[in-house]
Amino acid sequence: MENRTTKSFPVVGMHCASCANTIKTSLKKIDGIESCEVNVGTEKAKISFDKSKVDVGVMNKTLGKFGYSLVDEESEDMNNSGHNMTMMDHSKHDMSKMGHDMSLMNQGDKSDLHAGHNMSVENSDEESVNRKQLEIQKMFEKVSFVMPIVVVTFIIMFWELLAHYVKGFVEFPMTMMESGWLLFALATPVLFWVGKQFIEGIWHFLAHRVANMDTLVGIGTMVAYVYSALILLSPWFATNYSFEGGMYFDVTIVVIGFIILGKYMEMVSKQKTGEAVRALVGLQAKTAEVVRNGKAIEISVDEVIVGDIVVVRPGGKVPVDGVVIDGSTSIDESSISGESMPVDKKNGDKVIAATINKQGFIKIRAQKIGKDTMLSQIIRMVEEAQGSKAPIERLADQVSAIFVPTVLILAVVVLLGWILIGSNFMPFSQALALGIVSTVGVLVIACPCAMGLATPTAVIVGVGRAASMGILIKNAESLEKFAGVNFVAFDKTGTLTNGRPVVTEVVSYGIEQSRLISLLYSLEAKSEHPIATAIIEKAKESAVKKIKVINFSAVEGKGVDGKIGTTVYMAGSRKMFGKEVLEQDKIEMIEKWESEGKTVVILGTTKKILGLVAVADTIKSEAVSTISSLHQLGVKTAMITGDNPRTANFIASQLGIDRTIADVMPADKAAKVKELQDEGYRVAMVGDGVNDAPALALADVGVAMGTGTDVAIESAGVTLLSGKIEKLPLALSLSRETMKIIKQNLFWAFFYNVMGIPLAAGLLYPFFGILLSPAVAGGAMAFSSVSVVINSLRLKNKKI
Ligand code: ADP
Ligand code: MG
Repeated sequence: MENRTTKSFPVVGMHCASCANTIKTSLKKIDGIESCEVNVGTEKAKISFDKSKVDVGVMNKTLGKFGYSLVDEESEDMNNSGHNMTMMDHSKHDMSKMGHDMSLMNQGDKSDLHAGHNMSVENSDEESVNRKQLEIQKMFEKVSFVMPIVVVTFIIMFWELLAHYVKGFVEFPMTMMESGWLLFALATPVLFWVGKQFIEGIWHFLAHRVANMDTLVGIGTMVAYVYSALILLSPWFATNYSFEGGMYFDVTIVVIGFIILGKYMEMVSKQKTGEAVRALVGLQAKTAEVVRNGKAIEISVDEVIVGDIVVVRPGGKVPVDGVVIDGSTSIDESSISGESMPVDKKNGDKVIAATINKQGFIKIRAQKIGKDTMLSQIIRMVEEAQGSKAPIERLADQVSAIFVPTVLILAVVVLLGWILIGSNFMPFSQALALGIVSTVGVLVIACPCAMGLATPTAVIVGVGRAASMGILIKNAESLEKFAGVNFVAFDKTGTLTNGRPVVTEVVSYGIEQSRLISLLYSLEAKSEHPIATAIIEKAKESAVKKIKVINFSAVEGKGVDGKIGTTVYMAGSRKMFGKEVLEQDKIEMIEKWESEGKTVVILGTTKKILGLVAVADTIKSEAVSTISSLHQLGVKTAMITGDNPRTANFIASQLGIDRTIADVMPADKAAKVKELQDEGYRVAMVGDGVNDAPALALADVGVAMGTGTDVAIESAGVTLLSGKIEKLPLALSLSRETMKIIKQNLFWAFFYNVMGIPLAAGLLYPFFGILLSPAVAGGAMAFSSVSVVINSLRLKNKKI
């Protein structure tokens, strides 16, 4: 029995990359769980499991031990049943973030948020909205409580320092013992209430041998606190084991204060990374006007069923995907395709949900509703992409997996080092004090927190920004590969050209021109090739007859043939005909037209050529600038086509394209891509995603052109929804920019740790007297994760 399923669950209690690692490893140990991916950026776990063996309850029992839990949104939905959901499960987690954005921060792009607020998912999702909101609110309370204490602590610290070192500075009005008691009083709630999660981190470590960054901070601040408390409470301890009675309550206060502040800022900024999806969710119409029993009534969009006749008034939003059955209008599809020019719609044309009706009054028949609409598909895809892992992240994952245990060992080594080695050079009590300070510093600075945020936050922002421009990126891997592309191969017809050729020349040999057109019409009527469309168009203009064809067949990449009356006719390129029938004068004519960029369709029998028809396709207006932008980005270009080299070269020369690869059978396009790869290029193949699927799949990145209404979204690594290739250089720049940000983030995250640890360990102290104070370490730690998130957010508004 096939019971496998893959689901994405929001995770509560996840704070860092090592948390993600703990969650992953402990879930994988459960029988029935096949694979699992945990993303710190989205705070979600994607789990593949066997439903018959394991359920969320079992998983939560295991995770609960470590202080995490999965949110089973489905069961939450059940509690709120009766709601017809319009969005899929995983969009709701982001909705919850939205809820928080609205109430707490009241900043950012309000229009997006308000729109999102109106979603029908809102009610049924109250629980998860509250969950996130509560988490941030609690954090905010802690921040408001701890920050004044941090300020007081700083005043005391600096006053004492100044009084000690600056002659004539006003003495601090308290004795050392008095200020010790004061700081003890302040540090206690800070450690046990504000820093509760860190204490829990110690507990999880002691009870289950799992450590995360909370454990590190917890042990660090606890050591400082207990050591100082002993000094304060026991004069004997103070004389034997302290350095001139110095206490370190300030370390506990400042470290926890900064880290909590950092976490709060990180949470708040992380909300903003998800704005793009919330904006998409917010595009959905709330209500629809449908005709039922002859009357137009307004209903919730959730209640629309397939087949309903929906009225869309001028200025109104199309509520569901459908087809126009009455009226005509032009529709602004920019919300979906990022394309600002309105598109004309008449009877039979498809319209998509969340686009805006500009002026006409139309009726549409609902075809796709709820999670089947294009918008829902886009949202689903963007979310999946945002939650996916980029290959570059693997290193960071591996590093953070071993980081925490390594740091714990290192902390012990540092402490022992000071006690065993340091004490040879100074009094034991001083070595112990310095050892404690260094150990605390190491524990605090070493958290791999920023490293875990480096990639996902940038991916979330990058993919979201792309979506708002009508560029869908399938996953983080496609994004990373796309950024590395240095060769773009284009399909010709429909990609670089408009794909709507028209007949420009007709020559017949021994038959009437109208007879020629009529024969061609009869054959091509059965073909779907753009050339066939051009001929059919011409035949209709000339009002010629269509004759019955039997034994029709389409010869891929060459043309068509069939029997009319008793004769077998062929129409297509030279490849359809033997050398003996193609006389020199005809070849010259063909080549002349070809060198003008036209494609020549030859009509004939096995014995005789009856006529030549030239068709010409127009180059897309944006093709030339696209190619030159790509060249400016340092990318080489090629055109791959089934057309003959002469026609292809002419078009290529107009486009300024680097290479022309002509005469390629459809089935061989993939092989041509492979050849480019063998030359050492990293190739993106751009095509319509339907005919070119194998080539798209084989390329490092496949780029599919959508036409707005019918896109095979899942088929390619990158989809340009507007069908405009000018989006391609934008997409490329954006993915490169995203990778650049990721690399910066990783560098800084790593750099902090690598630089911070030896400083905090006191390695420079014997030589230069430099020791990173744990308080500064706490600040640096907090700052590093905040700066990583903020750096990723730059992508949102960066000029591309
Ligand atoms: P492309 O998509 O690059 O135009 P195809 O493989 O579809 O390439 O077609 C290659 C060539 O085969 C066309 O340029 C044309 O000469 C010929 N051909 C294919 N189909 C037809 C058809 N239905 N009628 C006439 N010629 C055709
Ligand atoms: Mg083609």
